[in-house]
Amino acid sequence: SRHRVIMAVQSSSVVSAAPILTKLKKDCATPLPVLRHVADAMAADMRAGLVADGVSDLKMILSYVDTLPTGNEKGLFYALDLGGTNFRVLRVQLGGKEERVIATEFDQVSIPPELMFGTSEELFDFIASGLAKFAQTEGGDFYLPQERTREIGFTFSFPVKQTSVDSGILIKWTKGFAVSGTAGKDVVACLNEAMERQGLNMRVSALVNDTVATLAGARYWDDDVMVSVILGTGTNACYVESIGAIPKLQSNDSKSGRTIVNTEWGAFSNGLPLTEFDREMDAESINPGEQIFEKTISGMYLGEIVRRVLIKMAQGGELFGNSISEKLMTPFALRTPDICAMQQDTSKDLGHVGSILYDVLGVSSNTAERQIVVEVCDTIAERGGRLAGAGIVGILEKMEEDSKGLIFGKRTVVAMDGGLYEHYPQYRSYLQEAVDELLGSEISKNIVIEHTKDGSGIGAALLAATNSKYPHDF
Ligand code: BGC
Ligand code: MG
Repeated sequence: SRHRVIMAVQSSSVVSAAPILTKLKKDCATPLPVLRHVADAMAADMRAGLVADGVSDLKMILSYVDTLPTGNEKGLFYALDLGGTNFRVLRVQLGGKEERVIATEFDQVSIPPELMFGTSEELFDFIASGLAKFAQTEGGDFYLPQERTREIGFTFSFPVKQTSVDSGILIKWTKGFAVSGTAGKDVVACLNEAMERQGLNMRVSALVNDTVATLAGARYWDDDVMVSVILGTGTNACYVESIGAIPKLQSNDSKSGRTIVNTEWGAFSNGLPLTEFDREMDAESINPGEQIFEKTISGMYLGEIVRRVLIKMAQGGELFGNSISEKLMTPFALRTPDICAMQQDTSKDLGHVGSILYDVLGVSSNTAERQIVVEVCDTIAERGGRLAGAGIVGILEKMEEDSKGLIFGKRTVVAMDGGLYEHYPQYRSYLQEAVDELLGSEISKNIVIEHTKDGSGIGAALLAATNSKYPHDF
């Protein structure tokens, strides 16, 4: 074999008896009482986080976004999106109520992995130079006099302590980012400095989390959108809150009486069904003890959890004969798109599962072993999807309790985005299933959980328009 065998396992017992799989299923189980507990704890942690900073797992960050797009927005706006594996730039020409989105254009580059471990200047120079290249290609349907400053909606998908709608301090990196020198700094100032180095006449009019941008983007088309959830590399949720329900709010100049709150639910940790594999992955991560909900349900981690289970099963003689490959032993070698692809194999001999196991993990497998692997993937996806669903119900129930009928008594939309939600059908159905179980069909039929395609790009540009510093009345 072209994969070097680095470890021999003692036993090569048959795979039919699989105590590790049995235990995994038991540890990952999410029966209704577990879901109920998670939903209730999510709601309780939300309330605690609204009272004061630093007392809850949930930061409940005030976004300073008090006005959502109405459709009347007009003019040329840019958006920048930094947060996961890709960096995106976008421009949109907005035409107001009648014409809506006249034109959009975007560009996307994957973030070089070394930048995730570099310095703040390097990262922001990379962003600003991508933006500069993109800005040079403006023309055609896009119009704003040459001398005018271009306004940007900056989607920065990390926990930021907002100081206004267009400034905020990075609390910490998540999702594998470990850039030095950004935590504790105003990320808009970091971007402005880098833009100056590029000689760009642009300014950030709105600094937003990706959940907030998604909510704004979805609301542009649908007034019933009240919550937005990202399930991608990382995870998070935001929702529309009443000013009166936020005791920690100092001054209140929200004209609408409402504001968007970014929950940062990735840090939730209360009552989750965790396994030894989760604990070990967390302990070895670059942010141990942090983002536990995220590590249990989001795209960066699901494949890695499965890989850890497979190692244990191979070592215990439950899988892959007598050998463990070097690839199988490599952290993050198995990605969530791989486990998703394995679950889509409906062939009798699970041939595609076999080739993924061979190509990605360097292990040969028979049909029975492939079946077991698919069951492991399904167990981890099921737990993730169902817990995400319970989290959503926690938010909805908190809102319903405060508003009596305004959430459950009418159509309410939860705008979803992120690659995990978009591309993993089983995960999506597990999520919906948990929501239905918790809410019951009568209520559940009013709750529309739907994918918003590219809500966050347009959403950030729309929020730049809503918070524009310049007139766009020509
Ligand atoms: C970040 C959030 C973000 C989420 C989804 C999390 O790791 O803390 O701010 O919204 O990922 O991108
Ligand atoms: Mg994103």
